[in-house]
Amino acid sequence: MLNTISKKLLTVVIITMTFNFAAAQNKDLPNVVILATGGTIAGSAATGTQAGYTSGQVGIETMIAAVPGIKDLANVTGEQLSNVGSQDMSVEIWLKLANRVNELLSRDDVDGIVITHGTDTQEETAFFLNLVVKSYKPVVTTGSMRPSTAVSAEGPLNLYNAVAIAADSNASGYGVLVVMNDQIHSAHGVTKTNTTSVQTFMSPMHGLTGAVIYGKHEFYSKPHGIFGPESEFSIEGVTSLPRVDIIYTGVDTPADLVDLSIKAGAKGIVIAGVGNGNMNAATLKACKNAAENGIVVVRSTRVPTGYVLRNAEINDDENKTVASDELNAQKSRVLLMLALLKDRSLEDIQKLFYTY
Ligand code: ASP
Repeated sequence: MLNTISKKLLTVVIITMTFNFAAAQNKDLPNVVILATGGTIAGSAATGTQAGYTSGQVGIETMIAAVPGIKDLANVTGEQLSNVGSQDMSVEIWLKLANRVNELLSRDDVDGIVITHGTDTQEETAFFLNLVVKSYKPVVTTGSMRPSTAVSAEGPLNLYNAVAIAADSNASGYGVLVVMNDQIHSAHGVTKTNTTSVQTFMSPMHGLTGAVIYGKHEFYSKPHGIFGPESEFSIEGVTSLPRVDIIYTGVDTPADLVDLSIKAGAKGIVIAGVGNGNMNAATLKACKNAAENGIVVVRSTRVPTGYVLRNAEINDDENKTVASDELNAQKSRVLLMLALLKDRSLEDIQKLFYTY
């Protein structure tokens, strides 16, 4: 008897919940899904003025509730995909995230996606998604430099701005956008430039893609490179990515780092070279040797801006190396991981670096 009453009550509760959810949807507003992955935007500290805090503490529902007016921009729903500081972002989470984005964007009732993410590796995740998301609909990543408990936490406004852009059909066809501190960056161009300041993201090679002030936004230019449905990369059926290591160089860099990397299983190596992707003679010799044994070596740079030019100070033809063109080391690694999902010639890989 009690059981029957409980079941009836449960049915009433479920029907009421469904009804309330439907009633909360405004048919005149776009539908935006926020996928939360963690980061400082979800971080908390014991006091509002301390530098130390823990990333990935606050859940997505609390984050949404902290943004006044967000529900006037779009019908917003949240999903918690992970809750990690982005130093712990992984290929496993990337694949889960990218598959979920593709799945959601293929639906008629989803107009845009926002991804909340730590700032440390946000440029890598944005660039990865830029290459594997098969939709023109807006995808926006955002985060914050100050935890949610800080005095002047900037996360809520960044989230508000990100939702405003994801809700705008005019943001379609821009690939993945990074929205932080009133600025709109392309996934291709953006990089983190300051360890603690809220003005950390910059796009040194191509400039800003646009600006956003309290949700009102303007686009300046279309992002550089190939992305979205035009990209040849796909993660369908992919469960892992080939290992690619970055070797940061300096004065007298030991060349055995290259050999150690290969021994550990790397299929590709990105050299964060000095200047125009340069490295000392011993490291170059080790790289040539690696390349002759089928390891793909990309020359990028530790310098924050500028191209790494093919056959400039280093003869790439002779050393069988690839020049990263305008991709920094961390984005070169992402592109090379995807490129190595299939067999390609060095010429093909070089072309990828010119076009993506
Ligand atoms: N370590 C943090 C992270 O990337 C920093 C941040 O989000 O600003 O998750």
